[in-house]
This record gives sequence, structure tokens and C-alpha cells, in this order.
Amino acid sequence: MSTDSTLLAAHWAQVRGRVDDACRAAGRDPAGVSILPVSKTFGAGVIRAATALGLRRFGENKVQEIRDKSPLLADCDIRWVMIGHLQTNKVKDVARLVDEVQSLDRMELAEALHRRLQHEGRAIDVLVQVKTSSEPSKFGLPPAQLPALLNTLRHFDTLRVRGLMTLATQSTDAAVVRGCFRRLRELRDQAAQAQGHALPRLSMGMSGDFALAIAEGATEVRIGSAIFGSRAAPETADSHV
Ligand SMILES: *Cc1c(COP(=O)(O)O)cnc(C)c1O
Repeated sequence: MSTDSTLLAAHWAQVRGRVDDACRAAGRDPAGVSILPVSKTFGAGVIRAATALGLRRFGENKVQEIRDKSPLLADCDIRWVMIGHLQTNKVKDVARLVDEVQSLDRMELAEALHRRLQHEGRAIDVLVQVKTSSEPSKFGLPPAQLPALLNTLRHFDTLRVRGLMTLATQSTDAAVVRGCFRRLRELRDQAAQAQGHALPRLSMGMSGDFALAIAEGATEVRIGSAIFGSRAAPETADSHV
């Protein structure tokens, strides 16, 4: 193995260990929390090395990056997961290349994706991204609109709604961050009770805040820098430039 591969393997083992520790601290079974490696800004070579560790699903926040990397990794059986803000005019590539969308945040996008997936003859898993943060820059569906969107999505057989996703407020105050994660879990529970929607998956928590998310019921944490190292260009998680 090259030095890079060795380092990647060490980081991966370390992150899995920290996630397991957070599960135990929260009284949860580590088998109930999966890790989505977030490979945005990292090249095909790094992702290929990660597949050697058995990783298959990778989170990206720009359609263009998936377009660039997927032909270089066509032999790797990768499942691309879209976690970034999606413009409606990008659905053509999404319907063709992406296996799961976690950033479904509006009706217009759902309709466009559904039409395009019908055209492709495909169905994909989706999570609805809900805005639990008060920061103006964050994307996500306003919580009050969640019941209506979930009811409409029932009619779109190309979009299999599996759960909810959120980004917490960026804050050094753990109570504020944790409050965002709790909000998502409560919204999920309300949707189940009031509307009968089964939403087993909660995608929440990143490198800096995953322990809090796990304490609030995350079933999946999205981890970039703790696995792959810090990204060259500083950017916010929501950046879509
Ligand atoms: C970049 C990103 C992550 C991972 O962030 P890290 O802090 O590098 O772990 C998670 N979720 C989303 C939506 C992102 O854009």
C-alpha cells in the first residue's frame, strides 16, 4: 500500500472507532449507525483507494464532480450520494448517475427528478433535507412544509423516501447543535404518528458534530475531513458555487 492508502486506512479505522464509541456513550448499538464517506473535492485516485477498504457509497455536493469522477471509476461499483444543494436544471445528470439524493428540499425539485427518472426507467432512494438551523444561508425545506411534501412524494414511485437529512447550525454551543438534531428526530416521529410515514433513516452529523447527532438518533453520519483530510479550498458545507 502507498503511504496515502495506509493513512486513509488509519483514518477510516479511527473514525469507525470514534463513531462506535459515540454509539456506546449514547447507549446505542454501533450496528445502527453507518458512515457515509464524503469525497467532495478529492480526486478519483483517493476514492479508488477508499474502495480498496471496502467503501462503496460516496457523498458529493456537486453534480459536476460526480460527472467528472464517475467515468474514471466505472470499474469500482460505486454508489454516488448527492448531499449538496441541487439546481433543478441538473436533474438530467442526477437521474443518470446518482444512486441516492439526500438533499431533496423542495417540491419543484421532486417533480423534475421524478419526470427525469421515469425517462431513465430508474428509481432512487431519497432523504428530505429539512432546515433545522436558523442560519439564513442553510438550504433545506422549512419544517412546516414537510407534511405536504411527504404526502406528495407518495405519488412519485421513482422516489423512495427513506428518511430525513439535516445540517446543524455551525456553533461552538453544543446545545444549539444538538437542538437541530433533536428537531429532525422529532419531525420524523411526528410524520410517523400523524401521517403514517415510515422514515427509518436520519442522516445527520459531520466530522465536527457526529457524536451529538448519534446521541439524538442519527442512523447515518456524513464524514469528509476526518477520513480524507482537510479540503484544499475552504468552503461551507452548503457551498454550491
Ligand atoms: C462536506 C459535507 C459533509 C462533511 O463535512 P466534514 O466536516 O468534512 O465531515 C457533510 N454533509 C454535507 C452536506 C457536506 O456538504
